[in-house]
Amino acid sequence: MPARENPTVAMIESAYRDHGLDWRYINCEVHPDDLAHAVLGARAMGWAGFNCSLPHKVAVIKHLDGLGESAKVIGAVNCAVRRDGAYIGENTDGKGFLQSLLTKIDPRGKSAVIFGAGGAARACAVEMALAGLSSILVVNRSPVRGQVLVDLINSATSTKAQYVSWVGDYVIPDSIDIVVNATSIGLYPDVKARVAVEVTSLHPSLVVADIIPNPPRTMFVKEAAMRGCHVIDGLGMLVNQGVISIKYWTGVDVDPAVMRKTVEEIFGV
Ligand code: NDP
Repeated sequence: MPARENPTVAMIESAYRDHGLDWRYINCEVHPDDLAHAVLGARAMGWAGFNCSLPHKVAVIKHLDGLGESAKVIGAVNCAVRRDGAYIGENTDGKGFLQSLLTKIDPRGKSAVIFGAGGAARACAVEMALAGLSSILVVNRSPVRGQVLVDLINSATSTKAQYVSWVGDYVIPDSIDIVVNATSIGLYPDVKARVAVEVTSLHPSLVVADIIPNPPRTMFVKEAAMRGCHVIDGLGMLVNQGVISIKYWTGVDVDPAVMRKTVEEIFGV
C-alpha cells in the first residue's frame, strides 16, 4: 500500500501551485546526530529556510544565527528563515495558533485556560500573552511542567499566569473567555480520548480551540460545538503556521482556504 501523503508537504505545495510559486517543499528525515550537518547543508544549498519538527525544535537553536522575539521567549523554533544571509529561528506554531484564534476573538485583555504545558502549549500561551492576554490558568497533569510554563509567562510577559492542578473533570471558571486544548489528548489513533473537562461549564460565549490536527473533529471539539461554543479546530493552527512560514520564505501571502482544503481531503473531513 502506498504511504499516505505527508499532510504538511501537500498543504505547502498546494499553496505554491495555487500562487504559481516556482518553489519546492521537501520532507527530509534528519537524525539528531546529523542536525548540524543538515543546517550546514541547507546553508550550502541556499535554501530560503526550513521547518523543523520534534525532536529538533530546541536543539536546532545553537545552529542558527539568531531568534525572532517570540521564539526567544518560547525557547523553541519550528521555522528557520534566511534574512540577509543569516538563518533566524522563528516559532510559527504559536503565531499560527494566534492567527486562527483571531478569527474568533482578540485575546487582548481576555482570560484563558490552557490544558497542557508541553512545547505546543508553551508556543500558544506565549503568543497569546505577547498579544495582550490579561490572565491565563495553566491546567496540566504534571505540576512541575505546569509551573515551569507559569513561571515563564509571569517572568517574560505582562500576562498573569497561575498553575491549576488537574483533578477529575475541570470546571471552567465563569471569568474565562478562551479555552485551549494544547495537550496531545485526542490525537490519532487515540480518537476516543477525551479532555477531562466538565462539559456543562462550556458555555456558548466561550471560544474553544483544540490544536489536535488529526482528527480535526476531536471529542473535545465535538463537545464544545454541542454546547454552542465558538470552536476552532487544530487545522486552524496547522494551516496558519504554514501561511506564516511561506510569507517568511517567499514574501507572498498565500490563501489559507486552499491549504485547508488540501489537509481536509487528506484527513477525510
Ligand atoms: P508534548 O509531549 O511536549 O506535551 C504534551 C502535553 O500533553 C503535556 O502537557 C502532557 O502533560 C499532556 N498530556 C498528554 N497526555 C495526557 C493525558 N492522557 N492526560 C493529561 N495530559 C496529557 O507535546 P507537544 O506540546 O509538542 O504537542 C502536543 C500536541 O500538539 C500534539 O498532539 C501535536 O499533534 C499538537 N500540535 C499541533 C500543531 C498544529 O499545527 N495543529 C502544531 C504542534 C503541535 P504532562 O506534562 O503531564 O505530561
